[in-house]
Amino acid sequence: MEQMYEALGISKEVYTFGEEILKELKERFEQIDEIAEYNQMKVIKAMQENRVAENHFAATTGYGYNDSGRETLEAVYASCFHTEAALVRPQITCGTHALAVALSANLRPGDELLSPVGKPYDTLEEVIGIRDSMGSLKEYGITYRQVDLLEDGSFDYPGIRQALNDRTKLVTIQRSKGYQTRPTLSVARIGELISFIKSIKPDVICMVDNCYGEFVETVEPSDVGADMVVGSLIKNPGGGLAPIGGYICGRKDCIDQCAYRLSAPGLGQEVGANLGILPSFYQGFFLAPTVVAGALKGAIFAANIYERLGFKVVPNGRESRHDIIQAVEFGTPEGVIGFCEGIQAAAPVDSYVTPEPWDMPGYDAPVIMAAGAFVQGSSIELSADGPIKPPYAVYFQGGLTWYHAKLGILMSLQRLTKRGVIKPQNLTNSCRHS
Ligand SMILES: *Cc1c(COP(=O)(O)O)cnc(C)c1O
Repeated sequence: MEQMYEALGISKEVYTFGEEILKELKERFEQIDEIAEYNQMKVIKAMQENRVAENHFAATTGYGYNDSGRETLEAVYASCFHTEAALVRPQITCGTHALAVALSANLRPGDELLSPVGKPYDTLEEVIGIRDSMGSLKEYGITYRQVDLLEDGSFDYPGIRQALNDRTKLVTIQRSKGYQTRPTLSVARIGELISFIKSIKPDVICMVDNCYGEFVETVEPSDVGADMVVGSLIKNPGGGLAPIGGYICGRKDCIDQCAYRLSAPGLGQEVGANLGILPSFYQGFFLAPTVVAGALKGAIFAANIYERLGFKVVPNGRESRHDIIQAVEFGTPEGVIGFCEGIQAAAPVDSYVTPEPWDMPGYDAPVIMAAGAFVQGSSIELSADGPIKPPYAVYFQGGLTWYHAKLGILMSLQRLTKRGVIKPQNLTNSCRHS
């Protein structure tokens, strides 16, 4: 094994260091496998209940009337998420699009949108109109209110009570921390928040941005009162196979609104040819629980490795996990760059290219990104990125298999050693320490 890793460019010291860390993670990994097993059964049950059959994989074209493959897939998602209805299709281009559809479909001029968990994901700022943008909800006369989390990451219940008003129609709750430093919300905490909100305003629609959270736990936000859960198929539930798509699962009346908004009033869910893409949606969903487990193992492995070497990691090495994102603070540009170089060098695709920081539109500092993906921009595949500015943190996620995630992390360590960010003696000292 050591020789195989050596052939890929991993030194004996780095490999041994990784194995030492891994020994301590056996129990954690067993827990992850158990969740994956449960979720695998949940997906199979949903597929059996809806009598998934070979004919559901056939392509449809044109209007796509009576597309039983599309309808059955949506029924499978609804069964799995325990919701009345679901909208799952390639016509939803990404997670942001799914969220924009869910919001704009269920809000009307004069309504107010509330985020009780602080600022939402960057791309939603323009959807909502927090940053002025063409076609935003703001342009349609929908206002927005936000209540930040308290210093310690808890909910500001008095603030939320005060923010809820006659016009509050929809509450958006983001499960994952995204690229912020707040903790990711567990499904249980989301459930508490929804109960509180519904106790004050029972008819308000509670929507959860579920991106990066699917299958990390055995329950989903729709099991604890969410009226809609929304996500991207090039993240967790696509299992790495879906080449495009988004989903919205939830209450029938909410999903109907979404369908009429996505296609057209009067048409709704009845149109939308699948163009032959459904096998990857079905198979990806089938594989998703184990793919997510692999990504989680990678995140925990990285947290423990870099924590041992003295870097700040969020979440830390022992915390329970509610999404697949791992942040590591290096404190120097070399740290961020070296880490990303390693992830890139370990990729099955484009491993020979060297990522470099560049001035991306919309960012106030150069950003470096590493991804060698089969699907462009897919972040369920092993990927990393970080802005070149203090605190010089890198965010990384994904890995279609645990072994690939492991190689990526070892390779990052290798590059950081080469760049002098990590001293070779630190690897051996830390081992002896444990
Ligand atoms: C990725 C992500 C989105 C947006 O999804 P895209 O597919 O990139 O458009 C929204 N919210 C969160 C929390 C995300 O992680």
